[in-house]
Amino acid sequence: MMPVVALVGRPNVGKSTLFNRLTRTRDALVANFPGLTRDRQYGQAKIGELEFIVVDTGGIDGTEQGIELEMAAQSLAAVDEADVVLFMVDARAGLSSADEGIAAHLRRCQKKTLLVVNKTDGIDADSAVSEFYQLGLGGVYPIAASQGRGVLSLIETALAPQLAELAEEQQQAATLLAEPESEQVSESEEELDFGELDEDQVQELLTAMDQANEEDAQQFADLPIKLAIVGRPNVGKSTLTNRILGEERVVVYDQPGTTRDSVYIPMQRDEQEYILIDTAGVRRRGRVHEAVEKFSVIKTLKAIEDANVVLLVVDAREGISDQDLSLLGFVLNAGRSIVLAVNKWDGLEDTVREDIKRELDRRLGFIDFARLHFISALHGSGVGNLFESIQEAYQSATKRVNTSMLTRIMMMAQDDHQPPLVGGRRVKLKYAHAGGYNPPRIIVHGNQVNTLPDSYKRYLINYFRRSLQIMGTPIRVEFNEGI
Ligand code: GDP
Ligand code: GDP
Repeated sequence: MMPVVALVGRPNVGKSTLFNRLTRTRDALVANFPGLTRDRQYGQAKIGELEFIVVDTGGIDGTEQGIELEMAAQSLAAVDEADVVLFMVDARAGLSSADEGIAAHLRRCQKKTLLVVNKTDGIDADSAVSEFYQLGLGGVYPIAASQGRGVLSLIETALAPQLAELAEEQQQAATLLAEPESEQVSESEEELDFGELDEDQVQELLTAMDQANEEDAQQFADLPIKLAIVGRPNVGKSTLTNRILGEERVVVYDQPGTTRDSVYIPMQRDEQEYILIDTAGVRRRGRVHEAVEKFSVIKTLKAIEDANVVLLVVDAREGISDQDLSLLGFVLNAGRSIVLAVNKWDGLEDTVREDIKRELDRRLGFIDFARLHFISALHGSGVGNLFESIQEAYQSATKRVNTSMLTRIMMMAQDDHQPPLVGGRRVKLKYAHAGGYNPPRIIVHGNQVNTLPDSYKRYLINYFRRSLQIMGTPIRVEFNEGI
């Protein structure tokens, strides 16, 4: 599970500067969700192989009355959801009473907290940080966020346990790979990239890869499908969850958890086992929770990470919002399969429905491989059909393909539409093989494939998608120079 790092501090200390540096903004999920106070930014970041989520809590205004209350209302949820809190102060401004108020609160929270003294560029860091020791938060970490100085070692310290855990996992994986059985496969992959092999050797290698892939795919057989139901507050997630589970089961699974935990509910439908990842929190009979209480962006992101298939619910009456698109982007980035449900389709005029459909076409054109369902969670219409698309998406994501099939499809694509000339020579595609599942990865080998224009790569991806009938899941195609 991805760890969560929360940036806390009064305005202007450099939180968004650090946030941008960590996430390089392009991956940032700007979440201004209705029902949540102030703008909060969520982004994905990476250190080495470790991915984590950064939350910029938006800052606490120290001049306001009752800093504690303010803190509780604005940032407590983020602190609560975080694994580590980076409490930022400003070396140039010095210690302020707002800092003291925040520190007092963080001491009570008993979260792992690092005191980060920012803007230490161009000044004497030692004397700048000394006054902050009195905040009583232990060690002090001087950085200059705008220059990136000290940021790497700060994150290494903040996420030391998670990094150690990952290193251990990788160590174990390496040990497994070193065992004689798997040796053949790892060797062959190396040779695929670099070796100068004759035709027979190539065929032998590709057959070996197929075997490895077959074993890979095997692990997905007979597994429950982890299905996350996600969407903005009030789109109808709980109503849909209750509808899917049937009212009588709801009470049983109404278990307590922290705000960041989804509820995992095993269920069965048409012979298929599912684990429903419920981000909304199924509603107690006769009790109504406020959306703001049960909605959490981090919970949503984690549920997506953990799912095989994501059911993204949107509200027909609200249309597609930027937040919906952010969530969609996150799902695709994570390589998860997706089914879209346009909820509250009941009681709408035909002309209104036509308008909504046109608007959806326009905004969702880029994800034409995802199935779109019009449903009413309230009345149950269309809900059953969702599962056909969920099955299809999962099967697409874990579909077994072999080298000869992929290579044949690739050759057909090449015959239909030749790759362009680059420097007077034609790019030549030679072999394709599977590189993994969930999402499907296809590795294409050939001469000068690295020079292929994006338009041709897209053409190939679509060709694979159509030929293999892969719906509801992103496909990753990688290009390898050689053989
Ligand atoms: P936030 O309100 O906490 O998100 O703070 P910002 O990230 O918006 O930064 C506030 C101001 O401090 C901006 O003008 C930044 O350029 C500046 N700033 C941020 N980090 C540094 C730093 O490391 N050194 C210096 N000198 N200025 C910085
Ligand atoms: P969540 O925050 O996404 O879990 O949304 P809820 O399930 O709590 O639903 C929010 C509101 O939308 C509630 O008042 C529901 O009764 C209403 N709602 C949910 N699904 C439908 C639907 O299909 N049609 C209509 N008309 N209202 C719905």
